[in-house]
Amino acid sequence: MNAPARPAAGYVLGIDFGSTTGKAVVLDAATGRIAASAVSQKGAVSDEGVKAALAQVFGELGIGPKDILRCVATGYGRRMLDIADRTITEITCHARGAVSLEPSARMVIDIGGQDSKVIAVDEAGLVTQFAMNDRCAAGTGKFLEVLARAVNIELARMGPAALAAEGSVKITSMCATFAETEVIALLAEGCDKAVVLDGVHAAVANRVMGLVSRVGQREPIVMTGGVAQNIAAVTHIERALSTRLIIPSHAQVAGALGAALFALDDLRTDGVSQRLLDPKIEDQVEAVEAGGLPCAPACAQKPGEQPIAFQRAPGA
Ligand code: ADP
Repeated sequence: MNAPARPAAGYVLGIDFGSTTGKAVVLDAATGRIAASAVSQKGAVSDEGVKAALAQVFGELGIGPKDILRCVATGYGRRMLDIADRTITEITCHARGAVSLEPSARMVIDIGGQDSKVIAVDEAGLVTQFAMNDRCAAGTGKFLEVLARAVNIELARMGPAALAAEGSVKITSMCATFAETEVIALLAEGCDKAVVLDGVHAAVANRVMGLVSRVGQREPIVMTGGVAQNIAAVTHIERALSTRLIIPSHAQVAGALGAALFALDDLRTDGVSQRLLDPKIEDQVEAVEAGGLPCAPACAQKPGEQPIAFQRAPGA
């Protein structure tokens, strides 16, 4: 009788080269558990963020690139990394990471620096449908960053400040540039900062609700991405969807975690695993990113029009 295959000794790596941050997750190849993770911000689409995140995880574990048995990269700048054996889109990696953190999840809301995504997943964790807001700041972390600057408040403080608001105001512009003008006008009229910030977060939730309605709300919902750290964004989205969101402990590194799990599958199958990966969904995401399909930026939409959504072909 053949002896059972011994789990590989060493590590696999997932990298999420995001628009604002670099994220890395290292898994122990033998156990599949998270050995180290890091997030680093070094400027827009800069490989410095990824380098810093890698230096942190390697330093923590006392290892180097030679100890990495497989590496998968995802995110905005995923094609810019030599260390990666292959790349997988953010939609697929975020879904995989989020479901591994919260196996009951049927929907993932990911709000990062440059885009927001709503992903429906089946019981196995496979992406069935998604909607994304790409190349437009509406409903993204960028929108919050621009308006935090306009209100002159630190990003980490804008959520708690908004929750303290007494009263509300509606920010009507979805476009970050127009919303900034609107916010400055409201402040000039004497509107309270906290009330303005509350309106800013409500506008983000409104945009996210549009994406959710395109896909069709499913529960439980997990929220990932940097904006999951913003308590007012979470609260407003919960209110808009009339449900609680699950925020896992590794929310900001969910995409890197998903990439690392694909790297582990590749290692274990000694090839390019297709487990929990739908090539048709991958093609659709790549097409949106390449501009081959309309990404429906909010400012180009007519009133009442919804952002575009995609669905897995029946039987695919
Ligand atoms: P990307 O993957 O596109 O680089 P992330 O998922 O890292 O983006 O999310 C970045 C966004 O997260 C920022 O634009 C910001 O809005 C939000 N963010 C990051 N850190 C914090 C924080 N401490 N508090 C509130 N929001 C934060």
